[in-house]
Amino acid sequence: MGIDYTELHDPNAEYTMRDLSAETMGVTRERGGGRDVEITDVQTTMVDGNFPWTLVRIYTDAGVVGTGEAYWGAGVPELIERMEPFVVGENPLDIDRLYEHLVQKMSGEGSVEGITVTAIAGIEVALHDLAGKILEVPAYQLLGGKYRDEMRVYCDCHTEAEADPEACADEAERVVEELGYDALKFDLDVPSGLEKDRANRHLRPGEIRHKAEIVEKVTERVKDRADVAFDCHWTFSGGSAKRLASAIEEYDVWWLEDPVPPENLAVQQEVTQSTITPITVGENRYRVTEERRLIEDQAVDIVAPDMPKVGGMRETRKIADVANQYYVPVAMHNVSSPVATMASAHVGAAIPNALAVEYHSYELGWWADLVEEDVIEDGYIEIPERPGLGVTLDMDAVAGHMVEGETLFDEA
Ligand SMILES: [Mg+2]
Repeated sequence: MGIDYTELHDPNAEYTMRDLSAETMGVTRERGGGRDVEITDVQTTMVDGNFPWTLVRIYTDAGVVGTGEAYWGAGVPELIERMEPFVVGENPLDIDRLYEHLVQKMSGEGSVEGITVTAIAGIEVALHDLAGKILEVPAYQLLGGKYRDEMRVYCDCHTEAEADPEACADEAERVVEELGYDALKFDLDVPSGLEKDRANRHLRPGEIRHKAEIVEKVTERVKDRADVAFDCHWTFSGGSAKRLASAIEEYDVWWLEDPVPPENLAVQQEVTQSTITPITVGENRYRVTEERRLIEDQAVDIVAPDMPKVGGMRETRKIADVANQYYVPVAMHNVSSPVATMASAHVGAAIPNALAVEYHSYELGWWADLVEEDVIEDGYIEIPERPGLGVTLDMDAVAGHMVEGETLFDEA
């Protein structure tokens, strides 16, 4: 789709810039043992889910194809197309070098943070699927092996009457009893009708009472059956966030997410350290360098990287390693299709401090159809022993839900 960047970029052009391509580095592609594989093509297609999921496929001369997924966002497919010349001809098993190669090559497009990181992550996830298939091991094995056989999933819940505490409690009950989850999340930045001004970030006393009532009704209803987190989407002032966190300390809150905007670490730290309510932050930061500050400043009780947004499977592992040094658990934010959700579960299997992976599509109805295998069952993902990510795109389902104008992947 869009501009053909292979026409604009000469991959053989001589650069003085640091270049990590196999040719420049003198790295041989020949490995033996069926590992002398070469990338021949990179393709994307976008599926119209409850987010525009960007699926990525990497093709090789060995006939093995890797499937990945980037975090959704405008411009991501174009960025992946832009990067294609930098990986074609390379051995897909050199995941770390290719990753750093892309970060260096894409510095002009902004590869420190934002959608370029997201686009690189889409390729990185596909490389893990590909490497697992070539080496005939599950992706978690590439990350160091397993801490657990199944990954706990928490269900992001919604109700039409989102400001009605009883309606939220009813939905919590339904999701626990009918859908089988033992971990939930509700939005707490819902209008109460008591707001005077939603721009100033200040919570009036009545608004705090209303939010505390939602927390009370939901947690009391599913007590002993489910853990419940509450998300504030970066809405409140530091002072209001502290008052809210304090007001819900008496209830069994799994965590309170993003009570303040993400940019100012000093405020984040102050809010987190003011309360025994566990504070979760992380979906708006990129790569280990940015998540590291949150953790080192002890501005977070639970860190919440979004695997394909933050930079991919190995990047999330690195974040988990830093978090583990501060005894901080990892709850993976996730709004992806089954592909990146399964990739997040592989990361979760391989890190000691994994708490849960999010599921954000229960209202969609066909999320599970996108792959041939079962992914979430009774609120858990069993980590597959199949090579790579262990999921196979159902091409009929992909074709049926593709964004208009997109092209279906080529056969392997
Ligand atoms: Mg959130």
